[in-house]
Amino acid sequence: MKKHNDLLIQKLPKPVKTYIKHLEQVRSDFVANVSHELRTPLTVIQGYLETLIKEESTNKKTLNKIFQQMYQHSIRMADIIEDLLLLSHLEGDDHPTEEKNDIVVADILKNLLIDAKNISGEKMHKISLKVETKIVMRGSESELRSLFSNIIVNAIKYTPDQGRINIEWFCDNEGRGIFKVSDTGIGIAKEHIPRITERFYRVDKARSRERGGTGLGLAIVKHVLLRHDAELEVESVLEKGSDFRCCFPKKRITFLE
Ligand code: ADP
Repeated sequence: MKKHNDLLIQKLPKPVKTYIKHLEQVRSDFVANVSHELRTPLTVIQGYLETLIKEESTNKKTLNKIFQQMYQHSIRMADIIEDLLLLSHLEGDDHPTEEKNDIVVADILKNLLIDAKNISGEKMHKISLKVETKIVMRGSESELRSLFSNIIVNAIKYTPDQGRINIEWFCDNEGRGIFKVSDTGIGIAKEHIPRITERFYRVDKARSRERGGTGLGLAIVKHVLLRHDAELEVESVLEKGSDFRCCFPKKRITFLE
C-alpha cells in the first residue's frame, strides 16, 4: 500500500509534493512528542513499581511518599490525554457544535474567578475581575470556558506568589468583544511569542512541567479562537508580565436588554 502511495505522490506537481512532505514531517514530529510526553511520567511510575517489587519491607511513610508520586504522575498522563482528545476534536470539525448559543461570558468568568482563587490558594495572587455583564457572544460555551480557563490558569502558573492578575471582558471601540488577562508574571521573551501556540512548545520545559502544564493549553486556545473567527494578541515584557487579549468579531456580539 505504501509503495502504491509513493508512486501516486511521485506523479504530483512539485509544490504539492513539498507540502505533503511537510505534513508528513509535522505528523511524525507530533507522534514523537506525544510518545515522549507520555513516556516520561510512565518511566517514573515503572521505576517506583520496580522498587516496590524488589523491596521486601518498606515503611508506611516511604510507601505513602511513593504512592503520592505515582498518583501525581498518573494525573499528569491523564491531563495530557484529556488535552489531546480535546485538541483532536477541535481540529476535527470546522465549527463549534453549539455554535448558535448566546453565551453570557460574564457568568462563565465569575465561576472561573472562584476556581482561579482556589488554584492560587496559598500563593495568594491578587486576582480581579472586571466584566460588562450585558455583552453576550454567539459561540460554544464549553469551548469558550476551556479557552478562558487555559489563559487564566497560565497567568497563575507563571506569576510569582502574591502577584497581580486582572481579568477583563468588554467591547472595544470597533464593537469587538475583548477577553483580556494581564499578569505581573515572568513574561515571555519576544522571540518565543510567535511559537507559544504550537503543540508542546514551552519557553522553559522544566518550569512548565513542574507547574503541571501539558504544553497543549495555548494550542487549544488557538483552535477555539479559530473556530470563533477570533484573534489572539500577546504582549509581554520579561520579568514584568504578560497581556493576553482574545478579540472576538463584532458579528458575534449582542447586548442584553
Ligand atoms: P503549558 O502547559 O506549558 O503552560 P501552554 O500551551 O499553556 O503550555 O503555554 C505554552 C508556553 O507559553 C508555556 O510553557 C510558557 O512558557 C508560556 N506561557 C503561557 N502563558 C504564559 C504567561 N501568562 N506568562 C509567561 N509565560 C507563559
